[in-house]
Amino acid sequence: MSARVLVVDDILPNVKLLEAKLACEYYEVITATSGKEALEKVASDNPDIILLDVMMPGMDGFEVCKRIKENPDTAHIPVVMVTALTDVQDKVRGLEAGADDFLSKPINDVALMARVRSLARLKMALDEWRVREDAANQFGVVTEKTNLMNEPIEGARVLLVEDKEFDKNKITGALAADLNIVMAVDNGMKAMELVSSQDFDILMVSLNLKNEDGLRLCSHLRSNERTRALPIVLVAEDNDIQRIAHGMEIGAYDYILRPVEKNELLARVRTQIRRKRYQDRLRSSYEISLSMALTDSLTGLYNRRYLEVHLGKLIENNSRSKKVLAVIMLDIDHFKSVNDTYGHGVGDEVLKVFSARLKENVRSFDLVVRMGGEEFVVILPDVSPERAYMVAERLRKSICEKLVPCSVEEGGLNITTSIGGAIINNDDYDVNTININAILERADKALYEAKHSGRNCSIFENKGKITKNDYKEIERISLEDTDKDFALPKEESTSSNNV
Ligand code: GH3
Ligand code: MG
Ligand code: MG
Repeated sequence: MSARVLVVDDILPNVKLLEAKLACEYYEVITATSGKEALEKVASDNPDIILLDVMMPGMDGFEVCKRIKENPDTAHIPVVMVTALTDVQDKVRGLEAGADDFLSKPINDVALMARVRSLARLKMALDEWRVREDAANQFGVVTEKTNLMNEPIEGARVLLVEDKEFDKNKITGALAADLNIVMAVDNGMKAMELVSSQDFDILMVSLNLKNEDGLRLCSHLRSNERTRALPIVLVAEDNDIQRIAHGMEIGAYDYILRPVEKNELLARVRTQIRRKRYQDRLRSSYEISLSMALTDSLTGLYNRRYLEVHLGKLIENNSRSKKVLAVIMLDIDHFKSVNDTYGHGVGDEVLKVFSARLKENVRSFDLVVRMGGEEFVVILPDVSPERAYMVAERLRKSICEKLVPCSVEEGGLNITTSIGGAIINNDDYDVNTININAILERADKALYEAKHSGRNCSIFENKGKITKNDYKEIERISLEDTDKDFALPKEESTSSNNV
C-alpha cells in the first residue's frame, strides 16, 4: 500500500533521513521545515499521514497538530509526533492535541514502518467513507460536516485480554475511571466467547500471555465477523518490537508498552474511540442520506431516481428469465383543483392517503414509486397482461370507491385517478441498450389517452380501455383464492415499499 507522507522537521538532515527511509519503502514523501509551511502543505498536497517534529522555532508541533485537528477538512489525517522528548507529560500533551501517535528519536525503523503502514490503512478506510459522504451530499441531502475531534470519548465498551494481574487491574482501573465500561478476561477462549455475544468498541490484547500467542488471538479477532472492524490495541514489552510490528501487520491499530503509563493509555484509547465513532458516524450518515436520497419524504415511497436503477435491474433479470413485467402509471385527476379549493396542506394529505392505498393493493415485491407531484408508478415484476389489467383496475377502484379522508371535508374528498399501462416483454429489448425513459414513456402515452377519454379509467398500450372482460377469468380465479401467488396478505403488502 502506498501513501503520501508529509515529513515536518526544522532540521534538514532529520527530514532527509526520514525521507530516505520512507522512500525506500515506496512511500511518496513531501517535506516541510516549519510549522507554517507544514500547514500550507497539508492544505495544498493532501497528505495521508503527517510525521511532525515537536520542537520547532515559531509554531511548535503541538500547535501545528492542534490546527490540523481543528479543521474538519484535515482532522482525519493521522498525525505522528516525532520527538526527542521522553517526558510522558509531553507525550500526553501531543496525544491530547489530537496526535494519533508518538515516535521517539532516534527513530526505530521497525516501529516507524509498522506505524506508517497501519495509519495508511486506517486513512484509506476513512477516505472511502468520506468519499461516500460527499457523494451522499451531492444527492442534495445536507448532512452536517463531521469532525473527528468532536467525537465523544466516554462510555466506550472495552475488552481487555490480559493475564498479568497487576497490569490488568491498572488498565481496568484507569479506563473505568475515564467512564468506560471495561471487561477483562485472561485468555483468548473467553475473549472469543464474549465477543460473540456482546458488542465492544475497542479490544486490548496482551502480547505476553502465558499460555497462548496474543498474535494468534488478534488474527482470530480480525477474521471474526463481529470484531473484524474493531480497533485492537496491543499491550507489549519494550523488546517485543518485532512482534508488535507483526501485530500491526495483521491489523492491530496501536500498541502500548509496559510499564503501562496511565495518561498515555488514556490518550491512546481515546484516540481509538474517537476514530471508531467518527467512522461509525460517517457510515450511518451515509446510510441515512442514501435512504433520504432514494425515497420521497412526504409519502415514504421510493422516488424516480430509485425507480430508474431498480427498473434497469429488473429488465436485465427478466431478459434472462423471460419474465414479463408491467409498468403502471397513475396520475390523480384534477388534483390542481384540490389544492386550489382546500389549500396545499390538504393536497398533501390526499397524496399520503393515495400512496397508502396503492401500497395496500400490491404485493410485497411490487414496487410503488412517487415520480413527482401527483404522478405515481407501480411496477409489477412478473405478471401476465390479464393480471396487470386487474391490478390497475383494483388500484383505480381503491381510490374512487372510498372517499379520501382529510381534515376539511366531512367524510372526505372524492378523488379519482387515471391510469396508463404498458406490458414490457423483454424480447423487445437488448439489455445493453435499454432506455428506461423510453419504457416509462410508453406507459405515459397510455395515461395521456386515459386522461383524454374521460379520466378515472385504465388504458393499456395496444389494448385500450380496460373492461371487466379483460380480466374476468383471472379475477374469478383469485376470488376463489386458488392463486396463492396473487392473494394479498396484508402484513406483507407494505414491507418492501420502504427503504
Ligand atoms: P389532470 O387531471 O389533467 O392530471 O389535472 P391535474 O390538475 O391533476 O394536473 P396538473 O398537472 O395541472 O396539476 C397538478 C398539480 O399538483 C399542480 C401542483 O401544484 C400540484 N402538486 C404537485 N406536487 C404537489 C405536492 O407535493 N403537494 C401538493 N399539495 N400539490 C402538489
Ligand atoms: Mg393530475
Ligand atoms: Mg400531472
